Amino acid sequence: MNFFDIDESLEKLDKKATENCKEAFDRIEKNSEYNQQKVLSAFISCGISEMHLGVSTGYGYDDVGRDTLDKVVAKTFGAEDALIRHSFASGTHTLSVALFGILRPGDTVLVLTGRPYDTITGVFGIDAKTDGSLKDFGVNYEQVDLLPDGTPDIESIKERLKLKPYKMAYIQRSRGYSLRKSLLIKDIKELCEAVKSVSPSTVIMVDNCYGEFVEKSEPTEVGADLMAGSLIKNPGGGIAPSGGYIAGRKEYIEMCSHRMTCAGVGREVGATLGHNRELYMGFFAAPHTVGEALKTAVYASSLFSLLGFETSPKFSDVRGDIIEIIKLNSKSALIAFCQGLQSGSPIDASAVPTPAPMPGYDDDVIMAAGAFTGGASIELSADAPLREPFCVYMQGGLNFYSAKVGILLAADKLISDIKAKEEK
Ligand SMILES: *Cc1c(COP(=O)(O)O)cnc(C)c1O
Repeated sequence: MNFFDIDESLEKLDKKATENCKEAFDRIEKNSEYNQQKVLSAFISCGISEMHLGVSTGYGYDDVGRDTLDKVVAKTFGAEDALIRHSFASGTHTLSVALFGILRPGDTVLVLTGRPYDTITGVFGIDAKTDGSLKDFGVNYEQVDLLPDGTPDIESIKERLKLKPYKMAYIQRSRGYSLRKSLLIKDIKELCEAVKSVSPSTVIMVDNCYGEFVEKSEPTEVGADLMAGSLIKNPGGGIAPSGGYIAGRKEYIEMCSHRMTCAGVGREVGATLGHNRELYMGFFAAPHTVGEALKTAVYASSLFSLLGFETSPKFSDVRGDIIEIIKLNSKSALIAFCQGLQSGSPIDASAVPTPAPMPGYDDDVIMAAGAFTGGASIELSADAPLREPFCVYMQGGLNFYSAKVGILLAADKLISDIKAKEEK
């Protein structure tokens, strides 16, 4: 490699690390091919034409591009209906719309996968009665903790569901900022069957962030009633500039649509302002982009395990999302990793990440991202709360060849920092 000043010893490790990825890469390519066909066939059966890529303004009445993209998403995800909008401000906002769309005062929601992702705790109002949280509106929160090995406690879940009627059972597919395992589709299927066997009327909702297109099916194809995710992660394909989607049963999507805009109006309004083309293109590109991100994660796991670090998942493991965790053991290693990764980004390579407080997060957070879309974590990015055991959570990579340089530069910076310390 002539363009980057990467330590020679690392170039040798790169060869070995790449060799070790072969089997996983084969699996990823087969999965991407399957999902690409799935998306392509949805485009064709929905009859997408140039007219769907057009612009609406104002109220956005009769935006056929918007309404048909909803159908493409529903069809792809094996769901009855869907809402996909650039105007969802974030994944958390999208999930919040779905939760408020379904839950009513006096209802109780049971979270099946332990404490949820940091920003969602504020939506539920778990710790504090944040203004406008579900708790503030009289929705009760309960949670079943994960077992010590990080898997859902199916027996306790069933026992709990027998005690009283629960309006919703909530599942988080991805690990978020925790050390638990991400759920595989087969795990979600098992959870859905467990819930429905005891309480068939409970609405099963899945936080699907980071999970889309990682496997051949989605939660809505294995028993979930509703799922939601962010378009600056997997299903935006690195092209959508913002947004989110909700997919699931028709009656629930209808309820969500009245929260998304307002009661009585629902999905009839919502100008797309010229974003239809990007949302179509992004959703179309997503199976391939997710494949690139998965390869990046597998490669990082392979390289860093050769360097002696603990990684999760291991490079050979079957994955439930695009996140890779590398246990870096010290604050300084964590910072070096993020700074090295940043230096290999196509945008803002000269920026130097430093830890800082973030709204919605309990600890200071360090983030490395040199992305075309602000905060997009389908693009190569790494973030970490500054807490023991100093794990970095990295994800994304629009393009494996480029992302690999970022990983190598992260390793290079980390190694040279360790060397410099030893010399002192
Ligand atoms: C990213 C993510 C969210 C939503 O986060 P935003 O930053 O609001 O998009 C929710 N849950 C999980 C598990 C996530 O990974």
